[in-house]
Amino acid sequence: MISIVIPVYNEEDALPHLYERLIKALESLNDEYECLFINDGSTDNSYNILKGFESQNKNIRVFNFRRNFGQTQAIACGFDYAKGDIIVTMDADLQNLPEDIPFLIEKLNEGYDVVSGWRKKRKDPLFSKKFPSFIANKFISWTTGIRLKDFGCTLKAYRKWVIKGLKLYGEMHRFLPVLCQWKGAKVAEIPVRHQKRKYGKTKYGTSRVFKVILDIFVLRFFLSVRNTPMHLIGGWGIITLFLSFISGLATILLKIFKNIDMTGNPLLYLTILLGILGFQFMILGLLGEINMRNYYEASKNKLYQLKDDR
Ligand code: UDP
Ligand code: MG
Repeated sequence: MISIVIPVYNEEDALPHLYERLIKALESLNDEYECLFINDGSTDNSYNILKGFESQNKNIRVFNFRRNFGQTQAIACGFDYAKGDIIVTMDADLQNLPEDIPFLIEKLNEGYDVVSGWRKKRKDPLFSKKFPSFIANKFISWTTGIRLKDFGCTLKAYRKWVIKGLKLYGEMHRFLPVLCQWKGAKVAEIPVRHQKRKYGKTKYGTSRVFKVILDIFVLRFFLSVRNTPMHLIGGWGIITLFLSFISGLATILLKIFKNIDMTGNPLLYLTILLGILGFQFMILGLLGEINMRNYYEASKNKLYQLKDDR
């Protein structure tokens, strides 16, 4: 079975067109399917339209958020309830084409676990969207080592095992391929078509650029820490303590051989500063270890992935 997950936030104009084309594309697949629409606190008529689809077609499931929790949480909800072996995510605004879904699935069946869409000819404004996202894509690919051209495209297909148990915090849906690859998934990218937004308005302004930059730092941090916070932060601790030792030694040697006053020597203060800092880093690393253990004990997530976990 194929599950399609679609976050919806004030998309009343697009929905009827989306529904018609989506169902046509899915019926052509000769497989069972379900569409999960997650209404993310829309204030327009989206919910009623979705309910209408649900009453017409038994393959449609509608989930209704109490308020606007954001696209990431809408996708997370879809992942939680999807029953299919393959899960496809897409936007509701028809910027992605439902007709591209079969190509994603075809690629997945070549032996991949995640297939990500690449909006090769992206039809979005240059300055507010295309340019920042060009930089962001390069930066994510550079910092994480995952070579994709377009992380931001929502049109993606996943095998069930990849997304089960995946925790999506903040606005992390953009970095799903990264999270999946960390889990050991084989990720591929194929070009998909893209269209100008014909119905409704974009839900994101330019402030998104800063959020994405900050998220990249968070991601990069988690990549370095992985499951061993002490290795990273304790590493800084060892370097700092070593520098403190060198500086302290220099202070003493200068006193012995050159009779330079220790209390007036700036190196003494550097020694104290680096000493305290190094000690703090070690403690932080240990706290990180405690947190990491707490997280895994509480979340039932495993630190490893079995190949036959499907
Ligand atoms: N969306 C959502 N909750 C939000 C913002 C957006 O569910 O808080 C949905 C929106 O309805 C659309 C998709 O996420 O289906 C992508 O949003 P949008 O098209 O505005 O993003 P853009 O294409 O401009 O990057
Ligand atoms: Mg859009």
